[in-house]
Amino acid sequence: MNFDSRKKFKEERTLILIKPDGVQRSLIGEIIGRFERSGLKLIGLKMLVPSKDLIEKHYLVNPEWRRITGEKTIESYKKKGKQPPFEDPFKVTEIILNNLKKYITSGPAVVMVWQGMHAVGIVRKLVGGTEPLTSDVGTIRGDFTIDSYEVSDIDGRAVRNLVHASGNIEEAEKEIVLWFQDGELLNYRLIPESILYDVNLDGILE
Ligand code: ATP
Ligand code: MG
Repeated sequence: MNFDSRKKFKEERTLILIKPDGVQRSLIGEIIGRFERSGLKLIGLKMLVPSKDLIEKHYLVNPEWRRITGEKTIESYKKKGKQPPFEDPFKVTEIILNNLKKYITSGPAVVMVWQGMHAVGIVRKLVGGTEPLTSDVGTIRGDFTIDSYEVSDIDGRAVRNLVHASGNIEEAEKEIVLWFQDGELLNYRLIPESILYDVNLDGILE
C-alpha cells in the first residue's frame, strides 16, 4: 500500500450523534467508551438541541435516503407477514422523517466526529442494525435499548435507537459540514496510533 492510500484510510471520518434518548438514559459515557476503545480517534464533540431544519438536512444529505428507508421499512413489514402502512416507499418515509424531527429535537444530543481506518464501517458495526429488536447482541442498539418498528408505528413515533452513525463515506463528509464549522475539528496525533498504523513495529523492544 502506498503512502497516499494509507493516509486516506487513516483519515476516514464518520459522524455519530447520541440522540436525546441516549442522553436521557445516561449512556453518553458508555457509548463514547465503545468508540474510544475501538482505536478510532475523536476529533470533534459538542452538545446541542438540534433544530428541525438541521435534522431534515441531515437525513436528506443522501438523495436516495427517502427511497431506501421506505423500502427497508416495507420489507421489514412483509418479512413479518404484516401489511405496511403504504406500498409507496416515499409515503412511508414522509411519516418517518416527520417523526424523526420530533424525536431528535426533543432535547440535548451529543454530536461527534471520529476518525481512523474504516471509521464508517467500524462504527456501523459497533452501533448495530436500525431496529433494536433485531440488532445484534454486543452492539450499542442491541445491548442498551428495546424498541421495535411495530411498537413505534403503533405509537406514531420514530424508532428510538440511541444513536445515528453515517451510512457511508460520502454521507459522512456531507453530514460533518452540516454539524461542524471549520476549526471545530482537531488535527492531532494519538501516540497509540503507531500500533494500529505503523508498517514496522520498531521501538517497542529496548
Ligand atoms: P441512522 O441514520 O439514524 O443512523 P439507520 O441508518 O440505521 O439510522 P435509517 O434507515 O437511516 O436507519 O433511518 C433513520 C432513523 O429513522 C432510524 O435510526 C430510526 O430512528 C428512524 N426510523 C427508520 N425507519 C423507521 C421506521 N420504519 N419506523 C420508525 N422509525 C424509523
Ligand atoms: Mg441512516
